[in-house]
Amino acid sequence: MLTRPSHPDPEAPSAALPIHTLGRHLKARFGRRLRRVMLDLGTTCPNRDGTSGFGGCIYCDVHGSGTGAAGEGEDLASQWRTGLARVRRSQPEGPAAILYFQSYSSTWPDLNPLSASLAQARAWAEDAPVLAVGTRPDCFSPEAAALLAEQKSTFKAVWVEFGLETADDRVQGLIGRNDTLASFHKACALAHDQGLEIIVHTIAGLPGEKPDGLLRQVEESVAAGVCGIKFHQLMVLRKTKLASMWKRGEVDLLEPGAYVNMVADALEILPPDIVVHRLSAASPPENHLAPLDWPSPAKVHANILAALRTRGTLQGCRAHAGPLK
Ligand code: SF4
Repeated sequence: MLTRPSHPDPEAPSAALPIHTLGRHLKARFGRRLRRVMLDLGTTCPNRDGTSGFGGCIYCDVHGSGTGAAGEGEDLASQWRTGLARVRRSQPEGPAAILYFQSYSSTWPDLNPLSASLAQARAWAEDAPVLAVGTRPDCFSPEAAALLAEQKSTFKAVWVEFGLETADDRVQGLIGRNDTLASFHKACALAHDQGLEIIVHTIAGLPGEKPDGLLRQVEESVAAGVCGIKFHQLMVLRKTKLASMWKRGEVDLLEPGAYVNMVADALEILPPDIVVHRLSAASPPENHLAPLDWPSPAKVHANILAALRTRGTLQGCRAHAGPLK
C-alpha cells in the first residue's frame, strides 16, 4: 500500500459530523471554502477517438462529462472569468476557487493543450490556490505527473482526479470504458512519486457491477493512497449509449435508499483522514433522463449522514487501523 500525503483535520469525524467533508478540509487548510471553476480544454479521450474505444463510456455525454464550453467556442480566459464571477458571489474577496480541468481526459492526446493552458492559468493562482486536473488513469504518464508537479511552485495544492468507476475489469468492458484496475494503480503510483494529491471518482450501480462493487472501489482506492473521493450514483443522461439501453429496459437504476446504504457502508471502511469531496452526482436538468424520483443531492447527503447516525457509526469506523504503508 502507498502512504498518502496527509493534511489532518483537527476535527475527526464525530456524531455531529460523521464524515470528513471537503468543506471542512478546505477551511482547516485554507481558512475558507473554495468552489470549483470548471474549465474545458476541448480535448478528447482515447475512449472516443478510437485509441481504446469509439463513442465513449455508456454514461458519458457528448461533452465528455464536462461543460462543453470549448466546443461552443468559449476560450479558457472567458471560462475562467465567468466561473470566477459565479464563485465570487459567495466569496467576494481573497482566494475563492479551485481551478478544475474537468472535461474529457486533460492529459490526452498529448500534453501540449494542458501545458499551454497551465501557462495561462498560473496567472489566476491568487484567486485559485488549488489546481485540479481530471484524466483517465491510462492517459497518465511520468511526463504528465512531472508537468503537474511543476505547478506546485505556483498553486498551494495540486490534485489529480482519476476516474476508477469500477474495480472490476469485466465491468470496465461492459460499460465500454476499456481501462483497467492495474492502470489505476500504475497512475496513482506515478502521481505519488511526484507528491501529487489524488482524488478518485467512483460510481455505484453500473450494469454488471456486483453488490460489493462500491466497497471494492474504496478498498482499491485506499490501497492506492488516494487523499480524496467522490461518490456518484449511475445517472442516465441524454445522448448517451446508456440512454438507449435504459429506453429499451436493459438497465436497473439504484433506488435512493439502496444508494444511501451502499455509500454509508463504503464510508465506514474509508479511513477518516480521506476527504469526501462529493456524496452524490447531479446533472443539468436539461440533460437528465433518469432516475427521476430521487431527492435533491442535498437531501441524499443528509440521508447518508442520517444513516450513519442511526447506525451509530462514523467514517472509518471499520477501516484498517493505523497509517497505510
Ligand atoms: S473516459 Fe471520461 S471522457 Fe472518456 S468517454 Fe469515458 S467518461 Fe467520457
